[in-house]
Amino acid sequence: MSLNATLADIQEIIIENRQRLIPIVHERELRGIITRTDLLNRLVNDPANLPKNLLHESEYPSLERSRNLTHLLTSNLSKEVIILLQTVGEVADDLGFNVFVVGGFVRDLLLKKINMDLDIVVEGDGITFARKLADVLLARVRVHERFGTATLVLNNELKLDVATARLEYYEYPAALPTVELSSIKLDLYRRDFTVNAMAIQLNPSHFGKLIDFFNSQNDLKQVAIKVLHNLSFVDDPTRIFRAIRFETRMDFNIVKHTERLIRNAVKMNLFGKADDPRFFTELKIILNEEHAVPAVRRLSEFGLFPYLWPDLEPHLNIDRRFNNCLNQAQKAITWFKLLYLEDYFESWIVYLLTIMGRSPVTVLKSFCTRFQLAPKMKSLLVNEKTQADKTAHFLNRRVVLKNSEIYLALNDLSIEGLLYLMAMAKKPEVEKCVSLYVISMRTQQSLLNGDNLKSLGYQPGPIFKTILETLLLARLDEAVSTRQEEIDLLTQKFPLDQSN
Ligand code: ATP
Ligand code: MG
Repeated sequence: MSLNATLADIQEIIIENRQRLIPIVHERELRGIITRTDLLNRLVNDPANLPKNLLHESEYPSLERSRNLTHLLTSNLSKEVIILLQTVGEVADDLGFNVFVVGGFVRDLLLKKINMDLDIVVEGDGITFARKLADVLLARVRVHERFGTATLVLNNELKLDVATARLEYYEYPAALPTVELSSIKLDLYRRDFTVNAMAIQLNPSHFGKLIDFFNSQNDLKQVAIKVLHNLSFVDDPTRIFRAIRFETRMDFNIVKHTERLIRNAVKMNLFGKADDPRFFTELKIILNEEHAVPAVRRLSEFGLFPYLWPDLEPHLNIDRRFNNCLNQAQKAITWFKLLYLEDYFESWIVYLLTIMGRSPVTVLKSFCTRFQLAPKMKSLLVNEKTQADKTAHFLNRRVVLKNSEIYLALNDLSIEGLLYLMAMAKKPEVEKCVSLYVISMRTQQSLLNGDNLKSLGYQPGPIFKTILETLLLARLDEAVSTRQEEIDLLTQKFPLDQSN
């Protein structure tokens, strides 16, 4: 491209021809390079491309749309949270900064849902503010200097993130004066969707003032997921996952125009190799949602499967068997949750394994590599799939199984692996085995314990594990039931002189 190329020329090559870089050449010499990011920064941030109401506040008074939410705050939040929000405002006042709570917290408050993640934006220096707030709250603070952000670790379920919104000045072309954009406005404009782009001011003199520049309240009423500008997905394709997350979680609708932008972004091959770990982070959140299955269907509908799982069988569509497995995974997860056991498990693992259920483990391995999963997580997933697939094969082949055989087949699997097995079960017998194991075998023990073995004259050592397991298996098969029967079996199978 030559030095006199226009912005339109550059836009065409980068956006329409899907090229990431353009070398600028003059008299056969390389003069520079324009990247897609350069172009986007220019397009997204150039005041000529900003919506008019962002720039001319007086013509579009946003005050009209701002109202005071103090009442909503006090009637929906605990005293502890209100006091925290007030403290945030006071600390900011001391430093002379404006301060806001933004994003998901505001959205959920207006929907009357509890959200314990506080995203705070400071007009000023976020890090200085976060340090001072941490002092006042006696909390620990983690600072990320490079991004002007900080996280406060509080002594309860609350999480508080602080970000900095800087004042930015734009030279307007020709005769127009320099424009000063209020930084909270620009901060909100750069967010993902209108419903996530509201703020509530926390400074004492404006406490509870809702800030809504983009008609977000209306979109919330219309249950609409809408981007703030047309280049949103080009700017950050992970927002496609986020759109699906919010749509399915809140039972909202991605509006037609935004849907079209998603389809365009997918067509533009923005994902390329889809190797950004942030894609995985967003996918994981989707798979942890209560309504993960419709969200997975949506991912498929938008044509995202080939990017996420290029080697997946079946490649492009969700077929009947796949659908069944997803539904069974959902059923298994719900069933397990309703048992109210203490065991912690992660549903995203169950869904991820289910999605790759019919593919060889190499597909899972390459997924982990592509999205840079931690080695520990990779080996956990790979082990679980390998083990569960083997067990599924075994359970599917046999018609009648002794309890001890079920126990031995399932005992090495984690909760995620067990639920995955239920999801992939082709016969109701397999599901029954797993539920029998979970409900009545998993926590059973023999009547005799290690101490009893010692007092019976056995020397502690690795043999104890074998003995106790033998007793347990006999108990599961109902070969023994009383303590005496266990002792009899013990002396028969492990005569004292041999075990010592
Ligand atoms: P959740 O309740 O699931 O946490 P959330 O809206 O709080 O939903 P987060 O991922 O915690 O979502 O992000 C917090 C806020 O940061 C969002 O509300 C949004 O305004 C903004 N945000 C997050 N990710 C992006 C992104 N990729 N692009 C633009 N804005 C984003
Ligand atoms: Mg959040």
